[in-house]
Parts: sequence; structure tokens; C-alpha cells
Amino acid sequence: MGLLIWLDGKLVDESQAMVSVFDHGLLYGDGVFEGIRVYGGKIFEFQAHLKRLYESASVIRLVIPMTMEELAAATQETVKANNIADGYIRLIITRGKGNLGLNPFTCSRAGVIIIASTIQLYPPELYERGMKVISAVTVRNHPLAIPPQVKSLNYLNNIIAKMEALDNNVPEAIMYNHEGYVAEATGDNVFIVRDGILYSPPVQAGSLEGVTRSVVIRLAKKLEIPFVEKNLTRFDLYVADEFFLTGTAAEVIAVVEIDGRTIGSGKPGPITGRLREAFFDYANGNSTC
Ligand code: PMP
Repeated sequence: MGLLIWLDGKLVDESQAMVSVFDHGLLYGDGVFEGIRVYGGKIFEFQAHLKRLYESASVIRLVIPMTMEELAAATQETVKANNIADGYIRLIITRGKGNLGLNPFTCSRAGVIIIASTIQLYPPELYERGMKVISAVTVRNHPLAIPPQVKSLNYLNNIIAKMEALDNNVPEAIMYNHEGYVAEATGDNVFIVRDGILYSPPVQAGSLEGVTRSVVIRLAKKLEIPFVEKNLTRFDLYVADEFFLTGTAAEVIAVVEIDGRTIGSGKPGPITGRLREAFFDYANGNSTC
């Protein structure tokens, strides 16, 4: 027996969890999703993730065929059925089965898939040493094309930039928007520290409104670390004292080099360390924010 997957209203073994080749999620990347952590048996920031999922769906005019409460209950049930205490949930809403044409209105019912499993994005050494990144040549999606705040099933923009990183033997790439300002990494939000002040680009610069980012901003306020949201350039990244990325899967990870320029001492910085520690205290229920 493999994992039990929630598929359109019931739990089925992963060997039976199939979607139609006519699902527009597959044919066109037409759908939305969420990645959510489970820490100590508790679904982390569940409300924030559900809100983002329903907002993303509404922007692309996708009707989720369950209320938020029903979807939350189904997610809890899937986590329980797979005995996940510390893990990762993937909620996927596809446009559903339709014709071989773009028209989403041929799809009568959206598909709902819930996977509760585990994830290890990077090896533990990378969290201790910090990672190297590059600046991607690939520009982040223009907000008037598909708004980067929509967590859609179409990640090609990010995947192309991810390949640039991997071609350069680094795990991540920083993406810039059409105006040259920092947007985000391929699956994570960006923070830097300079002269004791924490900075992150506004979501409007072309990033997903990260749930981890919001938690880190709240924790910074609690720790009395000054925080400023402002557009950042490549220069700002190059001269940063500290640099880190946040994301559900990546959690909080230091960046120690970008485009061959060393950040600070070349090791994860002290403010990054404090925020990382505060993040895990909060995630494990040992503090509030
Ligand atoms: N940006 C992108 C493009 C993402 O896919 C993600 C999620 N992996 C993030 C940022 C971080 O968001 P969150 O903290 O909500 O996981």
C-alpha cells in the first residue's frame, strides 16, 4: 500500500489516483495549488494557505467544488489517514476534464487532489553553510500577463529560471521583474539585511505572497528587527550583509553567494539565524507571533 490520496471526494491508494488525459490541468496547466507544512501534527498557517488557494482560484475563474470548511476537513482527514506528523501537503485544484481546446467552460467540474507526504528540499548541510545562487536571465512573468500572486499550475516561468540555476551548478536563481527589480527566487521569497535593517521586495514586484514570508515579517516585528518593504535591485543584493530565502518547502535558508559575489562573511548571518530559530519555535508551537 502506498499513500492514500484524496481524489474527488474519496481516499484512494496512490496506485489508483489517476487524472484524465483530458484534464485541462494537464493539457494547459489550468488550475491552482498550495504546498503546506505539517509541524508536530498541526497544519501550519492553514487559514492563510486556504485563503490564497481560494483567491488564486477566483482570479482564474475556477470554482472549487467544495467550501473552504469541507476542503479543510478533507485535508485533515488525508493527513490523519497517512499518519503525517511532520510533513508536507499538496492541495491541487485542476480545471477538470474538458475538450481538446482552451475553452475552460467545457470542463464541467474542477478536480480536487490532496496529497499528504513528506519533503526534504535541500540537504541539511546547505542550511548550515548557506547556498549559492545566480541571477536568472529569464524575467518574471509580467503582472499584466498572469499575476505572480496567483499560485497556478503553470510554473514554466519559474522552471526555466530553475534550469538556469542548475546549469550553473547552484540550487536556486533570483528572478527580476520586467523593470529590473528583484521579484523572488524560483520557489521562494527574498530577504536581505543591510546595516541592521531587514528588507524584502513588495509582492507587487512580482512574487507570490509567501505565507512563510508573512510569518518571518511578523517574527521580525516581535524581535524588534526593523523591517522595510521596498524594491530591491541587483546592487542591493550584491552589497547585502545577509541574504536569505523563505518558502514552505525551503523554510528559512541563507544565501552566501550571488553571481560570484560573497554575501557578508560568506556564512549565514546572525539576523538570519535569529529569524530561523524564531521560525522553528513558532512552527513547533513554542511561541506565538
Ligand atoms: N514564490 C513562489 C514562486 C513559490 O512557489 C513559493 C512557494 N513554494 C513561494 C514564493 C513561497 O511561498 P510560501 O512561503 O507560501 O510557501
